[in-house]
Amino acid sequence: MIKQVVTAMLVVSALCAASLAQTPGDGKAAAEKAVELLPGLDKRLIDTTADPCADFFKYACGNFSKLYPIPNDRSAYGTGAIVADYTERVLHSMLEKAAAGGAGRTPNEQKIGDNYAACMDVETINQWGLKPLQPELDRIAALKSKDALPELLGHFQLIGVNAFLNFSEQQDFKDARKQIAAVDQGGLGLPERDYYFREGEAAEKTRTQYVQHVALMLKLMGEAESKAAGNAQAIMQLETALAKVSMDVTSRRDPNKIYHLMPVSELATLAPGVAWERFLTASGVHVSELNVVNPDFLKGMNALLASTDMETIKTYLRWQLITSTPGYVLPKALDDENFDFYGRKLRGQPEQRARYKRCVQATDAALGEALGQVYVAQEFSPANKQATLQMVNDIEGAMDQDIDTLDWMSAATKVRAKEKLRAVADKIGYPDHWRDYSALTIMRDDAFGNVLRATEFENRRQLAKIGKPVDRGEWLISPSTVDAYYNPSMNDINFPAAILQSPLYDSHASDASNYGHVGGIVGHELTHGFDDEGRQFDANGNLADWWTPEDGKHFEEKADCEVKEYNNFVAVDDVEVNGKLTLGENTADNGGLRLAYIAFLADAKKKSIDLTKAQGRYTPIQQFFLGHGQDWFGETRPEQLRLQVQTDPHSPRQFRANGVVQNMPEFGKAFGCKTGEPMMPVNACRVW
Ligand SMILES: [Zn+2]
Repeated sequence: MIKQVVTAMLVVSALCAASLAQTPGDGKAAAEKAVELLPGLDKRLIDTTADPCADFFKYACGNFSKLYPIPNDRSAYGTGAIVADYTERVLHSMLEKAAAGGAGRTPNEQKIGDNYAACMDVETINQWGLKPLQPELDRIAALKSKDALPELLGHFQLIGVNAFLNFSEQQDFKDARKQIAAVDQGGLGLPERDYYFREGEAAEKTRTQYVQHVALMLKLMGEAESKAAGNAQAIMQLETALAKVSMDVTSRRDPNKIYHLMPVSELATLAPGVAWERFLTASGVHVSELNVVNPDFLKGMNALLASTDMETIKTYLRWQLITSTPGYVLPKALDDENFDFYGRKLRGQPEQRARYKRCVQATDAALGEALGQVYVAQEFSPANKQATLQMVNDIEGAMDQDIDTLDWMSAATKVRAKEKLRAVADKIGYPDHWRDYSALTIMRDDAFGNVLRATEFENRRQLAKIGKPVDRGEWLISPSTVDAYYNPSMNDINFPAAILQSPLYDSHASDASNYGHVGGIVGHELTHGFDDEGRQFDANGNLADWWTPEDGKHFEEKADCEVKEYNNFVAVDDVEVNGKLTLGENTADNGGLRLAYIAFLADAKKKSIDLTKAQGRYTPIQQFFLGHGQDWFGETRPEQLRLQVQTDPHSPRQFRANGVVQNMPEFGKAFGCKTGEPMMPVNACRVW
């Protein structure tokens, strides 16, 4: 629940992000069992009683949930979670050592060790109770009029409380050499704007539970029960009004809808009720222009500020403060209640994660590159980096070839596509230059203060980039994160060390299986540069149309086939996959595996491998597809699945496995499927 100023836009498209690896909240219970990494191709997971032509996901990983039931401290369990658990165990022993270290520690070891130790010190945290929050609560109480809000809201942005709005920095979409300020919608406690309006029993139940949760948190902060209930209603009303003028997750994937560069003076026209110069000064930022991500939101927020009484605004600010504070630095009763709503009710997770696991994550969140530096030195071999680089080069070569074969794209657009492909920067493992944390104070007896200082340190670091040249070596996630991403403004692909582990990359597995696993992931990130969103950015990372109108139209027709295909997948009960929200990820999944396949064929040819001759039970081509299928092994609780489909641009795992092979006749051929069977439909889609 740490709310930091992140890169403002949802333009970074990761491989598997929150849906697999970063389940917040989690207990101790059953999770210890499966903490070993699984091999690249795990035959135990294959359900040989299933028909690969009817449901390949079931065939490739059908035994997983019998062997590895979802632990009570997880809302989902599978590839990403297993690698994350393993990595967490490694980080845990590093942190225990750093925490015990004493005087001989390096400055980074002192910081990660003491941050971890302070987080583990539950007794002190409970003793302090809500006292550490008191200075912030006093600031709210001291507000005399709405005129004093800009200073408070600016300060709140720095400490990670996005009340009413979200202020951050980003690369200028239309001039990627520039770092600019961005003011965006914000201030909601539910996951996304549609949560406030969606009809149906499940949605209504969530809203009722949310209001109860807000009331309980206010009560635990000291409000009388009757007053807390009324205040929770008022907060819900206010947030619903903010949600009404907010943009939904699907719209936010369109870069043109979230880019409105304007002089700061125009803010006064959109929202005259806020003294913007004072807000910017309080945030420590001096600029003459900025991106107003969603101008309608600011207009709506302005009207809402005018019509809401001061007491309600203060109540809302108290709520935003408490819900933005990570549960692990709050007294137990608040931590438990926070988990009850956001973990148990919203995600279906039965138990909170063990304290030490949460403290490992907390240290990664606060000091990702200090922890990452130690992690990489211990865990990431040069051979691993070299093997990944080779794979990346092969797959970029495959894309170059593939572009030549496209019959729907003109020569002119092909030239520009190749120009963009050649400009992609490959970042593997960890940054060349490590972040300097020397100005950040971490104390062994002050968990709350550590969170506050680390959040402000990070937000000031982000905002300090405004007006300076772009650092192309910067990473948006830490080396120990099990994820990967493409960033269209940077035009780079990024693979942290932690994702380059088995089963995704297994040095003992066959080349075929590795091409299906990590090859597909590399292809996925590369294809993001050319999906419905990424294709709008050019080789330099600028939002500029480099397509002929006719080629653009062809692209959209082809993409529309995938929208319809994925729209038909039913995730849970009555909840269908949103083909438009997931289009970029689906395009990357489909294009990515095809690129991996082309690279795999070229590699096998070089090594004179007979692809149709079984090695053990499966031919190399079958192993390639099994590697892909087993990228997605796992199971997700129904509540988490609902949340994922409604907020996450990634399709649920079974559709990531099956959606792609349905579009590759090469799969059907390898497994002897007949045209018309589910995994070999008559109308397959293909964009890339
Ligand atoms: Zn992706």
